[in-house]
Amino acid sequence: MTKMVRTGIGYDIHRLDEGRRLVVGGVAIPFSKGLVGHSDGDVLIHAVIDALLGAMGGKDIGQCFPDTNPVYKDIQSTELLVSVAIQLKQRDCEICNIDSIVIAEEPKLAPHIPAMKDILCPILGLPVKDLGIKAKTREGLGDVGEGRAIAAWAVATIVSGS
Ligand code: MG
Repeated sequence: MTKMVRTGIGYDIHRLDEGRRLVVGGVAIPFSKGLVGHSDGDVLIHAVIDALLGAMGGKDIGQCFPDTNPVYKDIQSTELLVSVAIQLKQRDCEICNIDSIVIAEEPKLAPHIPAMKDILCPILGLPVKDLGIKAKTREGLGDVGEGRAIAAWAVATIVSGS
């Protein structure tokens, strides 16, 4: 069977609002607002999931985990990531590396990156060096810059067995 190197890209954005817990990269981060979503709104995990699904040539996150399905209401996005990791194994795909950027004006996310890696790397079966997470701001520009949302990008490279 010919092995193929495949790449996928993922992007997500969620609104910030009061009365929600802020969860980014699987880490609960103390803040006055949280991300609005059908699930926990974990924008970073959603971007990573879409990058992995894209690399696999599968459906996107909205098709795999539709927000019309009550099963996914308030679900922890780490559970969705576990499900994608299982799909990868079933398709004989191995992750080479993932790189990602999470963009938030506040709170400062960089101090939480090691904790995010501690949660995400075991799920993905990746050593820490193969999961890049970078925290950026938008320099006050646009919805993210004005603190109304948090966005994330991710790129995943996999080796596919078929
Ligand atoms: Mg999302």
